[in-house]
Order: sequence, then C-alpha cells, then structure tokens
Amino acid sequence: MKDEVPSAMDASAIIIGSGYSAAAALVHLTHAGLPLRQILVIGPGELGTGQAYGCTAKSYRLNIRVTGQRLWPDQPEHFADWATEHIQDPDAHTPAGSFYRRSDFAQYITAQLALIPDAKAFRQINAWATNITGEDNDWLVACDDGAQYRAERLVLATGNPDPEWPTGIKPGRAPSLVRAPWRGDWVTQVKSKMHVCVVGAGLTAMDALHALGMQQHQGPISLLAPHGILPPSQVDWGVPEPAHDWPTGLRGSDFSREIRQYLGTRSWHHRDCQQRFEALRVNVNPPWQMLPPKDRVRLQRRLGWLWSLIRFRANPQTVASVKAMKASGQLKIIKTHLHGLTKADSGRWLVKLSNGEELTTHVVVNCTGMGRDKLIDTMIAAGQIAPIETTRQPWINSELRVVASDGQPYDTLFCIGPATGLALGDVLGATSIAHQAAQLAKTLVTNTSFKRVR
Ligand SMILES: Cc1cc2nc3c(=O)[nH]c(=O)nc-3n(C[C@H](O)[C@H](O)[C@H](O)COP(=O)(O)OP(=O)(O)OC[C@H]3O[C@@H](n4cnc5c(N)ncnc54)[C@H](O)[C@@H]3O)c2cc1C
Repeated sequence: MKDEVPSAMDASAIIIGSGYSAAAALVHLTHAGLPLRQILVIGPGELGTGQAYGCTAKSYRLNIRVTGQRLWPDQPEHFADWATEHIQDPDAHTPAGSFYRRSDFAQYITAQLALIPDAKAFRQINAWATNITGEDNDWLVACDDGAQYRAERLVLATGNPDPEWPTGIKPGRAPSLVRAPWRGDWVTQVKSKMHVCVVGAGLTAMDALHALGMQQHQGPISLLAPHGILPPSQVDWGVPEPAHDWPTGLRGSDFSREIRQYLGTRSWHHRDCQQRFEALRVNVNPPWQMLPPKDRVRLQRRLGWLWSLIRFRANPQTVASVKAMKASGQLKIIKTHLHGLTKADSGRWLVKLSNGEELTTHVVVNCTGMGRDKLIDTMIAAGQIAPIETTRQPWINSELRVVASDGQPYDTLFCIGPATGLALGDVLGATSIAHQAAQLAKTLVTNTSFKRVR
C-alpha cells in the first residue's frame, strides 16, 4: 500500500474495471502499440471475467452464437476456431449455431491476454476505485484500500453494477434471497422441491430457469413478468440483408415508427425477423446519437426492454428448458411486478405482487437487471461528469470521451462498455464493446506522446 501521492506516473493509462470491457481495452491498446507496462488495471477479480463471464454455473451459456461473439471485431471465426481446438462441449451445438458456456468465453479471453507481448509486465490492482480527481493535467485514482494512482489517461470500464432489489423493496439478506444471480453460485443451494419465485423476464431470468432445469428442479416456479412475455430464441439467420439506411433528423416517435415499419408484422420467432432486425441494428447508433436527449431517455424507458429482448434473444438450450417447464405446468408466468417482499413462516418469503395477489415461496431470485454505478454516481455528484437529463447515465461523445459538466468533452477521460449505452446506442454486446475498444486504442495511441512512467 502506498501512503503518498506519487510524483511520477504510475501508468500512461489506467483502466478502471476488471471485466470484459477492461480486457478488451487492454488487448486493443497493446495491439495498437502501447506497451503493457505503461497500462495499469484497477479492479477486483480475474481480468476479463466480470459480471457476464465470471460465472460458475455450467448451465449459463452465451446468448450469441459463436461467430457473433468477438474480441476481434473483424475476425468472426476467431473465437469459433479457438473453441473448436480447446472446448469439448457437444451440447453447445444447435441448429441455430453453437452457443458455448459463458465461462468458456472467459477462458478464451484469458488465452488472448496471455498472448500480449511481454505478458509478465501486466499490472492489476485488486481494489475498487472510489474517487477520481484531476491534478496538473493528470488523473489521480483513489482506491478503497487507501492507495492512490496517477496517470495521464483514464478509461472507465466499470460495466454492469451489481443488481439491486427494485426500488422500495428492502427485504434484508438471506441465502434464500438471491439479489445478484449473475455468478450462478446460488442455484446449488436450492433444494429440489422448493418453490422458487423469479422476479423479471429477461435473459437473466431465462438463465435462472435453465439453471434450475439442469439440476432437475422439481418444485413450482413462479415468474413475475412485467409485460407477460419472455425473450424469443436465437434462430438460424443467415447473411443479413443490406444494412438499413436510417433517415436523419428523427425524433423519438419517428424512431420507434421506423423500427415498427421496417420489421413489419413478422413473427419474432422466425428467421426473417431476426435477419431484418440485424440489418436494422447495424447502423442504429448514428441516428440514436442524433436524437434529442429527452427522446433517448423516454425511448429507453418505454422500449429499451423490448429492444433488448429482440436484440439479444436467448440461446436455444435455455429456451428448450423453459418450454419444457411451461408445458409440464411447473412454470407459471404471472404478468405483474414485484410490489413487496417480507418474511413469512418456516423461513419462507411472502411475495406481494402489484396485481394484489400474494405468493409464499422458499427462494426469491432477483432478475431485474443492473444496479447503480457508485463511481460514476460520485463523479456526477462532484460535478466532474455531465449526466444525461435527470438520469445517472454519463454523457459520452462519439469518440468515447466523457463529457464534463460544462458540456466539453475531456481530452484524456474515456468510457467504454454498458455505461455508454444511453449516450451511444446499441453497445452492450461483446462485439460492440470490442469495436469500442479498437476505436479507443486508435484515439488513445495514435499521435499521442506519453510522459515518463515510474
Ligand atoms: C449476465 C450477463 C450475460 C451477458 N451475456 C452476454 C452474451 O452472451 N453475449 C454478449 O455479447 N454479451 C453479453 N452480455 C453483455 C455484457 O455487458 C458485455 O458482454 C460485457 O460483459 C461488459 O463487460 P464490462 O467489463 O463492461 O462489465 P462487467 O462484466 O460488469 O465488469 C466490470 C467489472 O469492473 C469492476 N468494477 C466496477 N466498478 C469498479 C470500480 N469502481 N473500481 C474497480 N473495479 C470496478 C467490477 O469488478 C466488475 O466486475 C452479458 C451481460 C450480462 C450482465
């Protein structure tokens, strides 16, 4: 632990975060020529795993088929070739493509990190960054262990904050209350006959159901679905149609109309719908970034959930489990929200629904999505970062530069990954993040001179 503010640089660039975005940034920065010893990663756990790929449940699979899951954006076969050589998993292969385990993708990232020249020079601080200040044109990053690090350039890659219970629900802590299910370690604690309540109806809920199915769960499962629907399955779509040519100058209502008209009345279970959606998605970011901020916020609130369902879809293995659970009557989907959660008798939970009904269950699994990013919150509260409207999402410009509260982008502060979503559009998937990492490397390494590193 260091006691004093260092007088020389700790690194040319500090990456805050230790998930996939941080790993992608490191890989692309070094590929573009920045020596590894000039980069410092600050974040806990094994680099590259993070919330998405650091899971222990073998049932948790990628939702994107193997050629769509890319660290190298222009090499669709790269992960596929690696997986063929290193992974024995006959269950990965389906008529809609190969869907490997999320932990296998983490292994692939580890293998890619090991290939960086001078890999032994890799430096990671296993701590949380809690505060950032600017000093003499440098950035000082304070960590929760009391240490502080200095660099000229900073990349925020803090990702998907730990899930929280929905607003107003504070049930306390218990092993049978699964607030953060992404690692998948909760499922082995669930006894076979227990009644499980799954809160939410997105991809995390699908993962939870599949994990229960894979361990032959016998008890009833109640799933609270705000819109009453679950994500569709990935299908075997082929070469996308020509990319949609989005009109310019759209407002929010035009934007949703454009999507509806382009997709038409196709059923989202059919391949031509997914194919057409991919053609729509390719160029969605520029018109999104031209929408007035108010419209972006409104659209994300109203239609963000639907876009995510159609965009990501669920892997066919998971969908098969869920279909079987529905057909047998084990799974009951209730169109409602979680309204309250309190203790009941015999260690069970009283689940209050917004439709007025109540359930008594043994286990409650929170699948309502990501929570709040404390570091970004702190920076917004300190007036260092401009939020978009009244949200806690940061303004990021198209060069991935974070925008200060005076509306000017910083020269040396960047952000990649999920936190850029509201500002930049469709950027959540691994391949989109890899594109951002490659763009960041171009901006940060090209035509840049770096100061002395200690
Ligand atoms: C459960 C789940 C499944 C997904 N599945 C897929 C999929 O199949 N295919 C696909 O393409 N995309 C998928 N995604 C999308 C996913 O967002 C990205 O692929 C990617 O994981 C984002 O990586 P990240 O590093 O930005 O975020 P994270 O994975 O959240 O990692 C960020 C890490 O940074 C660290 N950190 C955060 N704040 C700080 C701080 N202040 N100081 C230090 N360290 C910090 C934390 O340890 C955290 O683990 C999935 C996402 C989730 C959540």
